[in-house]
Order: sequence, then structure tokens, then C-alpha cells
Amino acid sequence: VENYVNVKKLEIETLNVRENYRKEFMGNISHELKTPLFTVQSYVLTLLDGAMKDKTVRKEYLRRANKGVERLIYIVKELDMISKLEVGGLVLNKEYFNIIALVQSIFDLLEMKAAKKNISLVFDKEYTEEIVVNADRERIEQVLTNLIVNSLKYGKQDGTTEVSIENIVKSKVLVRVTDNGEGILKENMPRIFERFYRVDKSGSRKEGGSGLGLSIVKHIVEAHNEKIYVESQFGIGSEFSFTLENGK
Ligand code: ADP
Repeated sequence: VENYVNVKKLEIETLNVRENYRKEFMGNISHELKTPLFTVQSYVLTLLDGAMKDKTVRKEYLRRANKGVERLIYIVKELDMISKLEVGGLVLNKEYFNIIALVQSIFDLLEMKAAKKNISLVFDKEYTEEIVVNADRERIEQVLTNLIVNSLKYGKQDGTTEVSIENIVKSKVLVRVTDNGEGILKENMPRIFERFYRVDKSGSRKEGGSGLGLSIVKHIVEAHNEKIYVESQFGIGSEFSFTLENGK
């Protein structure tokens, strides 16, 4: 009987933790959506209130309202991705592809963004041969994009983001994204993969962050049955790495 009671106690505790988690999640969602919604509303109301007449003002307010709408779409898309990943509804489309070429194409896409802070996007060495992995190319593109975009958001002016790809053991490839940016304090490290968690909320939001990026990254890597690691030194930089199945 005592054992049974203990088991029940544990079940209820787990349920309570889950329930609190759910409540926190709902609270976070509405908070994240409220900010851009009120922004859009305030511009629309000002326009209705007479600002519509002036052509320049009208254009500027419509542009700002649209920015708010874009932000809402971005958050909803990320939430959609998370819920798909969490209910396991995301089917992986695994294929064999050259990871070096994928990283290069992401570097090319992010070149302009990197240039704004004069951050160099580089490989650790020259890769003369292909490195083939077996994974969902589109999802891995998202993982790499999120990690590299983060290295730019939290990177210092004139810094460097370096990607290295290594065959650690026969069946595994390790991909590393290293930056010399602001780094993460030890006490914040355990939380960075949580949904909506941001070390510096206003700083991240200014950079267009929602706190969902790393949680998506973790989900995708784990959906592949692979592992993600982070090492960071505050003020010095961070290194995010994850494993992939060697496609050779
Ligand atoms: P966000 O949208 O805020 O970037 P993420 O889930 O991608 O959300 O990251 C969560 C938090 O982890 C960020 O707000 C930031 O505080 C921290 N972080 C992520 N990547 C880095 C990095 N490369 N350097 C320093 N801090 C980082």
C-alpha cells in the first residue's frame, strides 16, 4: 500500500509539474503575441484617427504596422514548428547530402547579415572532399541557420563565426559552430534550450529573437536521435555542436 501511495504521489507531482509548465507556456505565448499585436493596433488606430491624410506619415505607419504583422507571422510559424516537433508529428525526410555544401549555402545567405557587424563566416579549414551525412536536409539547414544567426546576434563587432565538421567516429560526424561573442553565464546555460528562454529579454527581442530558436534546434537534433552540446565562456564566446549520422 505504501508503495502504491508513493507511486500515486509521484504521478500527481509529475502532473503538477506538467500543468505548471503548460501554464507558463501559455503565459509566454500570449505575452510574446501581445507586444506586436498592440504595436499594430496602435498604428492602425493612429491612422484611423487622422494620420491617414498625410501621405508620408501614412506610408511610415503602414510600414511599422506591417513589421508588427511580420513579427506575429514569425512567432506563429515558430510555434507551429515547435508543436509539430513536440507531438512527434514531424516526419523526417532523411537523405544523403554533402554537409559542407549546405554550410556554404547558409554562409552565402547570411553574408549580408554578418556584414552588418563585420563578422566573418568561415570554415576552420579548407574542405577539399565532400562530407556526406544521412539526415533531413531541410531541418538540418534550419538547425545550422538558427545556430549561425545566434552567433551573429550575440556576436561582437568584427568577430568570427567558425564552422568545423569532423568525423569523430566511423558512424558519426560532429558539426561545431563557434563564435567569439558575448558568451553565456554558467548559471544560464541549463535553461537556454527551453522554449521562450532568453538570457536578456530586451536584448534578444531587439535582435528579433523569440527565445524559441534553440528549443527548435534541440528538438530537431533529438528527432534524429542525435546529441547537441554547448560550451561557453562568458565574455569570450560559445560553441554549439551536434552529431549527425555519417552517410559514407
Ligand atoms: P533567441 O530568439 O532569444 O535568440 P534562442 O532560443 O535561439 O532564442 O536562444 C536562447 C538564448 O540563449 C538567447 O536569448 C541568448 O541569451 C542565448 N544564446 C543563444 N545563442 C547564443 C550565442 N551564440 N552566444 C551567446 N548567447 C546565446
